[in-house]
Amino acid sequence: MTELTALKGIGEKTAGAFHRLGIYSAEDLIRYYPRDYEIFADPVPLYRLVPGQTATVEGVLQKAATLNRFNGMTIVNAYIADMTGRLQLSWYNAPFIRSSLGAGRHLYFRGRVYEKNGRLIMNQPRIFEPPVYEEKYAGRMMPLYSLTKGLSNGTVMKAVEEALKRLGGGREYLPEDILQRNGLVSVADMAIRMHFPRNEEELIRARRRVVFEEFFMAMLAGAWLSENARKQSSTHVCRPNVRMISFMAELPFTLTAAQNKAYREIQGDMASGRVMNRLVEGDVGSGKTIVAILAMLNAALNGYQAAIMAPTAVLARQHYETINSLLKGWNESESSALISGGGFGLAGVKKPGEVNAAGSTAKPVRTVLLTGSMSAAEKKAAYEKIRSHEADIIIGTHTLFQEKIEYDDLGLIVTDEQHRFGVGQREALYQKGSLPHTLIMSATPIPRTLAIILYSDMDLSVIDARPEGRIPVKNAVVGPDYRKRAWKFIYDEIKKGRQAYVICPAIEASEEEGGTEDPSAPENVTDYTEQLKKVFPKEVRIGMLHGQMKGAEKEKIMEDFKNRETDILVSTTVVEVGVDVPNATVIMVENAERFGLAELHQLRGRVGRGEWQSYCIMVNTSDTEKAAERLDILNHSNDGFRIAEEDLRLRGPGDIFGVRQSGELNFRIADIYQDADVMKMAKDSVERLLAEDPQITSPGHAELRKLLDRYLDKGQLI
Ligand code: ADP
Ligand code: MG
Repeated sequence: MTELTALKGIGEKTAGAFHRLGIYSAEDLIRYYPRDYEIFADPVPLYRLVPGQTATVEGVLQKAATLNRFNGMTIVNAYIADMTGRLQLSWYNAPFIRSSLGAGRHLYFRGRVYEKNGRLIMNQPRIFEPPVYEEKYAGRMMPLYSLTKGLSNGTVMKAVEEALKRLGGGREYLPEDILQRNGLVSVADMAIRMHFPRNEEELIRARRRVVFEEFFMAMLAGAWLSENARKQSSTHVCRPNVRMISFMAELPFTLTAAQNKAYREIQGDMASGRVMNRLVEGDVGSGKTIVAILAMLNAALNGYQAAIMAPTAVLARQHYETINSLLKGWNESESSALISGGGFGLAGVKKPGEVNAAGSTAKPVRTVLLTGSMSAAEKKAAYEKIRSHEADIIIGTHTLFQEKIEYDDLGLIVTDEQHRFGVGQREALYQKGSLPHTLIMSATPIPRTLAIILYSDMDLSVIDARPEGRIPVKNAVVGPDYRKRAWKFIYDEIKKGRQAYVICPAIEASEEEGGTEDPSAPENVTDYTEQLKKVFPKEVRIGMLHGQMKGAEKEKIMEDFKNRETDILVSTTVVEVGVDVPNATVIMVENAERFGLAELHQLRGRVGRGEWQSYCIMVNTSDTEKAAERLDILNHSNDGFRIAEEDLRLRGPGDIFGVRQSGELNFRIADIYQDADVMKMAKDSVERLLAEDPQITSPGHAELRKLLDRYLDKGQLI
């Protein structure tokens, strides 16, 4: 591994910013692929510009640029002309720019155009001298990276260039015959052309190899693990336990047929004598959590520990509370019933001295929470409970797999809403020598045919129906001019005692997106929260949440919302996954066109969880027909599988750089729908490879083996 600071131009501070993106080495950097590309197509004649467009224009400055000040801001304004028209250019808080904008100069400009009072303005354009533009930019595709505070696109680009200079693509790890048979480019070509394609063709070829690798490694790792684990006999055989019946009887609802079926399958696996490795797939709101809880209780009643890993601390805490509230009454009634001799007397606790005869006390099932944001003392107490088996059910985030944590006897791991945990942590546990059952809960709608290919190492349960009696969410796709009415609507719901989410794509106004002046820039939670505080009466309590907040702060804000201490939560998509606040009845999504349909579907799943009619208001700020058509799919369907398919159909096979389906899967680039053909090819290659070299020990596979070991360790390619 090459340290980031070893690269030219990267100091400690920049390295720190990269760390926030999960990039720690030059190797990581090379795999930090652009989120999109900017194509420097030919300059657009001024009369053809349209609002919202990002374009290059070429023109002559009509007079020297002017500098104005107001409200503590400076604005430089300039006017250019070509043979077809005139255009205003504006820069905020960049007074120094004026000196390079003398009358009569011929320059290229590139930026986003918006409309103000019927006139077009290009906002904060970049400026290019014609020879530089023509040599370095014209016709090229420039990478656009996801950024964080302290990192500009230019910095990332330079850093990637340096990393590539040093490492090239690294050593080739795919065997020659696999490259040949699948028509894949070399690792070096892949690395360079993912970042700096000279044309779309090159990019498509580079991307194809990335996609292939993502599928290939995931399936190879899966096959490898199942080879090494699944067929082994289990040391955690869980027999059906009578106490389960009373637990189910005390649930506040009756399980749906689909939930029952999924649990029966799980129960069967856990009793079978083999190690369970099962994927439970169910649309948002289908009620996966209770199925996971039943599985964990099953393990606990058989004397083993069970752990559930959630993708965020907020979700972990939510599960912790749900589980505790379900266990509370039952634990009490169980123990008293048995004391009085009225119980079944069959509690399946297996350890000596704990076997229940009628009349003795049933051991209560105990839980513990472990998240990264807890204090050192709290964590220590949790470790101790885990080690000593004072906790039967352990709820946490990825912290559950730190080295320090010693389980007494872990019989089951559930990972919720996140596949990413799967591989790496499973491997870590196998390494520790214990073979727990694993259960993965997923809301990503993968058709069964594809799931079987991709997850051939797992058994599959599908929860294909929602609990009865839910009132379907009412949807509306509206334009920005409807915004005020939407706020009024939210206010009316709040007066009825309900709560609302407002989702914005961005955290704060960004220079790159045109700053606060540009009405076509995406909404951001920071400014939006301020705005709502002004619009709504004082008594309406408004909270704000985004991914760059500290763990404990996020948990507190979510907790406040759950406890109805805030009425409106303005948030980025961090609430997308799994949050359950049944009292919330409205979700308003700003710039809805910027989200993937699967993502929007997940967001919508945050409401409609209680007894009230719920609403999803999607604000479409784009005027393209395509955006309207995509959002219309959501407007008319509540079925995750259908939505994903329709989305793909609309995007068409060539449209590979559109919004991706879902971030939940292990893949950064590959899209299970769009790239289903590559998935099948990768599957063939995995099978051939393992048939030829089952232990992956042949000298020609040495590099691949190294990569596999790293993949098993980290659970992903970088
Ligand atoms: P998801 O599948 O999205 O994880 P959850 O497990 O969070 O869904 O369940 C969504 C909501 O439905 C929760 O409030 C849960 O208590 C409730 N729920 C789950 N199963 C049932 C059921 N069989 N009948 C009624 N409500 C249920
Ligand atoms: Mg869930």
